[in-house]
Amino acid sequence: MAPATPHTKVAIIGSGPAAHTAAIYLSRAELKPTLYEGMLAGGTAAGGQLTTTTEVENYPGFPNGISGPDLMDSMRAQSEKFGTDIITETITKLDLKSRPFRLWREYEDGDGDAPAHTADAVIIATGANARRLDLPGEETYWQNGISACAVCDGAVPIFRNKPLVVIGGGDSAAEEALFLTKYGSKVTVLVRKDFLRASKAMQNRLLSHEKVEVKFNHEAVEVLGENKPRGLMTNLKIKNNKTGEEQVLNANGLFYAVGHDPATGLVKGQLDLDEEGYLLTKPGTSYTSIEGVFAAGDVQDKRYRQAITSAGSGCIAALEAEKYLAEREGESPEQQLEQSGAKKGDINGADNVPEYKTNPLL
Ligand SMILES: Cc1cc2nc3c(=O)[nH]c(=O)nc-3n(C[C@H](O)[C@H](O)[C@H](O)COP(=O)(O)OP(=O)(O)OC[C@H]3O[C@@H](n4cnc5c(N)ncnc54)[C@H](O)[C@@H]3O)c2cc1C
Repeated sequence: MAPATPHTKVAIIGSGPAAHTAAIYLSRAELKPTLYEGMLAGGTAAGGQLTTTTEVENYPGFPNGISGPDLMDSMRAQSEKFGTDIITETITKLDLKSRPFRLWREYEDGDGDAPAHTADAVIIATGANARRLDLPGEETYWQNGISACAVCDGAVPIFRNKPLVVIGGGDSAAEEALFLTKYGSKVTVLVRKDFLRASKAMQNRLLSHEKVEVKFNHEAVEVLGENKPRGLMTNLKIKNNKTGEEQVLNANGLFYAVGHDPATGLVKGQLDLDEEGYLLTKPGTSYTSIEGVFAAGDVQDKRYRQAITSAGSGCIAALEAEKYLAEREGESPEQQLEQSGAKKGDINGADNVPEYKTNPLL
């Protein structure tokens, strides 16, 4: 006889600050959450984006800073200490139409495969990945001059009073460039097109700033720097994409502001997403478009994308999931389904169009 599918009250998918904060709250509330931390999910190690950085200097409680991997190891240990069941697997398929919800893991997600878990509530905390440009030299100088987050890294000493470059033409690029003017001696903004996509107000602020030079029709070609272990970037080769003319800039910092990819492939077609693929939540809450499914962290936050804001939203998701479970206690799966307005269905179906009612809380 096939073993019964294990059931959990709350399944958390993800392993960054949002997932672990939710796990800490839920395990302390004795709900014994199950956390799927991923096995190189989306190419990132369990622990999320902070495993790819060195010092984190803006997470409260660490006046001397803490390395990103150490911070995430501590969060994981805290989740485990209070009883979170952490599973090092990636969830690749979800059925949010049934009650309880059903989760499948990687390599065991075929049509005939039994789910890895069922859950009364699910918290999606799968994060987002900053887009990279795969420039020559990028791998060598990543975090040794190149960053995808000016707010996170802009204040570190290697950028102080140094020439910096931002790539991007949208609001994020403009915000990052203006933020960096506090630290750098000069900030050059490379814009691929001959116009900025940023709002008029941001454009005005950017173009009138004495430390900023915007180079339209320019692209980065190669990152150059010190040729030694952990050497820093010193220059950036750029090209005018109209004339083909190349130039080497002095640049001790290069900040990518070319967008993020939220990890929402798992729930596409089941939960409401915005036009950029971020999970939509009711403002100020973790409620998604399906009752019992909550979202936290960068996967639903395209504005702040910080470890502390992710942790904060993980706390909100945990408290809201706890409330949801308390209110549904004693209800049968059929009653829960009826309450939610969801229709039973098979997500393996070709036309996987959600038919369920929107969360009445929205
Ligand atoms: C290089 C770098 C430096 C940064 N520095 C700072 C800083 O100094 N200070 C700061 O506040 N912020 C910093 N940030 C931003 C910060 O890392 C993020 O805001 C934060 O990590 C987002 O947390 P999260 O919980 O949403 O998930 P993430 O950290 O994005 O982690 C989510 C993780 O969940 C796992 N996962 C995804 N899908 C699945 C799945 N289907 N099944 C199972 N597991 C899955 C993966 O491991 C994924 O990485 C930095 C980001 C980067 C990239």
